[in-house]
Amino acid sequence: MGIEEQLPSGVMLSTVEGLAGYARKGSLWPVTFGLACCAIEMMSTGGPRFDIARFGMEVFRPSPRQADLMIVAGRVSQKMAPVLRQIYDQMPAPKWVIAMGVCASSGGMFNNYAIVQGVDHVVPVDIYLPGCPPRPEMLLDSILQLHQKIQDTKLGANRQREIAANEEIALNAIPTSQMKGLLR
Ligand code: SF4
Repeated sequence: MGIEEQLPSGVMLSTVEGLAGYARKGSLWPVTFGLACCAIEMMSTGGPRFDIARFGMEVFRPSPRQADLMIVAGRVSQKMAPVLRQIYDQMPAPKWVIAMGVCASSGGMFNNYAIVQGVDHVVPVDIYLPGCPPRPEMLLDSILQLHQKIQDTKLGANRQREIAANEEIALNAIPTSQMKGLLR
């Protein structure tokens, strides 16, 4: 929105946050983007049986400039990583990312040099969705979880405080390279 950065904190800001969150969560547009087998489940989520249109999301946008949600559906190869990042950079803020499936979340069974071991090495992830592949019901559930997160998103001075707190947590976290996986 732009003007949100100038908003002072207080009761008024809480009201604006609530309204902005409600509008944003009801108008998420995912970017058309599928990397592997998980994308088949993502596509069926858009079909009549699961009907993602119930949540105002029936329009999968072919241009990242018209989208604010990236569903990373499938494993991310090293070759695809810069392309994925470019698409993310072209999306207007605020934007959100769901890592769909174990491959996008952590590399999954592909513990090798060709696959990025978690898409959070490339873009910030809001929701990690487990499963191989996750069923459409699971994707819908993760979208509802994201709705809650969007509803609770802060603006203005409150947002700055939230960013500082998140950065502090990230700096104190164990680096992914030092975490022990199943195959290490
Ligand atoms: S999690 Fe399973 S279904 Fe999804 S991309 Fe990986 S192997 Fe394919």
